[in-house]
Amino acid sequence: MTLKAENVSRFYGTQKALDNVSLELKQGEIVALLGPNGAGKSTMMKIITCYLPQNEGNVWVCGHNVTTESIKVREIVGYLPEHNPLYLDMYVREYLEFVAGLHKLGKKTKARVAEMIEQTGLGPEQHKQIGALSKGYRQRVGIAQALIHDPQVLILDEPTSGLDPNQLVDIRQLVKEAGKHKTVLLSTHIMQEVEAVCDRVVIINKGQIVADAPTRELQLLNQSNRVIQVEFEQKPNVESLRSIEGVMEVQEISEKEVKVFTQSTQDLRSVIFKWAVNNKHVILSMVYEDQSIEQVFRQLTFEV
Ligand code: ADP
Ligand code: MG
Repeated sequence: MTLKAENVSRFYGTQKALDNVSLELKQGEIVALLGPNGAGKSTMMKIITCYLPQNEGNVWVCGHNVTTESIKVREIVGYLPEHNPLYLDMYVREYLEFVAGLHKLGKKTKARVAEMIEQTGLGPEQHKQIGALSKGYRQRVGIAQALIHDPQVLILDEPTSGLDPNQLVDIRQLVKEAGKHKTVLLSTHIMQEVEAVCDRVVIINKGQIVADAPTRELQLLNQSNRVIQVEFEQKPNVESLRSIEGVMEVQEISEKEVKVFTQSTQDLRSVIFKWAVNNKHVILSMVYEDQSIEQVFRQLTFEV
């Protein structure tokens, strides 16, 4: 496990910002930490990156404990904090050389800075003062500093917040590119971001993890999709069910129960019923769900 958090809790005074959070990331995964404001995303990230100690639980990054081996963890983790704090009066190159110095890159500094400028598309702006850059370019500087020591794990706290649509696409592309060779945890409250970038999504609300699933599973629930839950008297032939026209995926939820994800806006219940009759299956119940990915998120994260 590249990143492992076990029963992590964090209090601010009497407020419990993280409540018994456990999380695991495998090598090479890009995982979204999705949640509304105040959910505890930044707190979790500060703990993983050794900026803030937890009150309870343990976190390991590539097997190193964040409490007892914090220097080692900092060497292998790249971190873009929320709101991307930068020294606005420093020049792009100067700042990246400064960060490279913090990581003791020594003789490799010049080459590595040049590489980062190239990789993050900072070329045209590399001679400017950071304060003179647009938000999109500042974000590139933030990502460049997070990557400069070639970390194994990247922690990005709302890397696209406040960007215009073009900048957004560029930064997502950068993150995806970086994620090809690294394990990435990024926080966001934007659903589309998860779909565009992440393999898996962990939904956090009020300091607790309320869902952890591959993005594809949540995508199957997206707006134009419908889900029909069917209970059979006996174990159904799932392969045959999958071959029905309009069916995108069939998920077995128990021996005799399945969730049928359908792409079309048409109601496939009668088709499934006929299929059952033809295949000598008896249907005990059929429940029709029509939920969007937003609804799933809202159900999990908002009070009713
Ligand atoms: P998110 O990043 O998901 O928006 P945070 O981790 O920043 O959430 O915050 C989680 C909760 O902890 C919020 O209720 C927030 O107000 C509180 N909190 C965060 N930082 C502090 C702090 N330094 N002092 C007191 N409360 C804090
Ligand atoms: Mg935050």
